[in-house]
Amino acid sequence: MHDHDHGRDPFDRRHFLRLAGLGGVVFASGLAGCATRAATTREFHFVQLSDTHWGFEGPAVNPEARTTLPRAVAAVNALPDPPDFIVFTGDLTHTTDDPQERRRRMREFKAIVADLKVRDVRFMPGEHDASLDQGAAFQELFGPTRFSFDHEGVHFVAIDNVSDPTARVGEEQRAWLASDLARLDRGAPIVVLTHRPLFDLAPQWDWATRDGADVVATLMPYENVTVFYGHIHQEHHHMTGHIAHHAATSLIFPLPAPGSQPKRTPIPWDAAQPFRGLGFREIERHDAATTAAVAGSAAFGIEQYPLGRA
Ligand SMILES: [Zn+2]
Repeated sequence: MHDHDHGRDPFDRRHFLRLAGLGGVVFASGLAGCATRAATTREFHFVQLSDTHWGFEGPAVNPEARTTLPRAVAAVNALPDPPDFIVFTGDLTHTTDDPQERRRRMREFKAIVADLKVRDVRFMPGEHDASLDQGAAFQELFGPTRFSFDHEGVHFVAIDNVSDPTARVGEEQRAWLASDLARLDRGAPIVVLTHRPLFDLAPQWDWATRDGADVVATLMPYENVTVFYGHIHQEHHHMTGHIAHHAATSLIFPLPAPGSQPKRTPIPWDAAQPFRGLGFREIERHDAATTAAVAGSAAFGIEQYPLGRA
């Protein structure tokens, strides 16, 4: 059961690590016991999994490609405090030119993740799923490539920056985004979920969205926006103005640091440290008191769950 409001120190080890990981300055002293909890925001958490690339084959990179996704499903099912919901932020399957094979991979992926105990699971495409057919197979099997929903007072919006093979969100979708946000207060908590980074992280590696600056401009009037994305197969944290962008690890192979070498080649499998660099994360919505108490910090904490044991 979720009982975040009682009997739990808001500055336990997890919070501290996660807040520190976001680069904010954490002043824990003087906070214990003084936080007057606002009744308006309940703490909750969800799980983000990304870049599972079902169908990938490459023994030097991941000889356990057939077991990695089932392992992740089992690890999520074993979480002591189940998430409210789960989101997959794209590249569910590895790309293939064959439309039938693409659908077969998607059906296999669906069958594996059907074992997740949490039933509220949301799927987004990556360019591996969607760019060769503009999202047709994905939509057949998983539904819309963009959507929004509300959970516990937080507005979530999933943006598709992969179905267009030129890596654009596009004017039409930006208009949809603007109208989706228009009914919100400027201070409303907003979570953006997307696949590619919305800023120019490493455009030479396709780690950018062509019209990402326009998307960020649409988001900028809102004071409380956090972006969670995938695609780059590693953790990464970046700010555009007041908007935080957090990249997730992959569940197939890690990639090198942005622009750190000429080619974007996967980091090879290390038999001494199997599954190194692979994992998923839990994202926790802090309650209003915690958010207010930790000046300048994000309203969300991140806890990383590696698949391999370090
Ligand atoms: Zn991708």
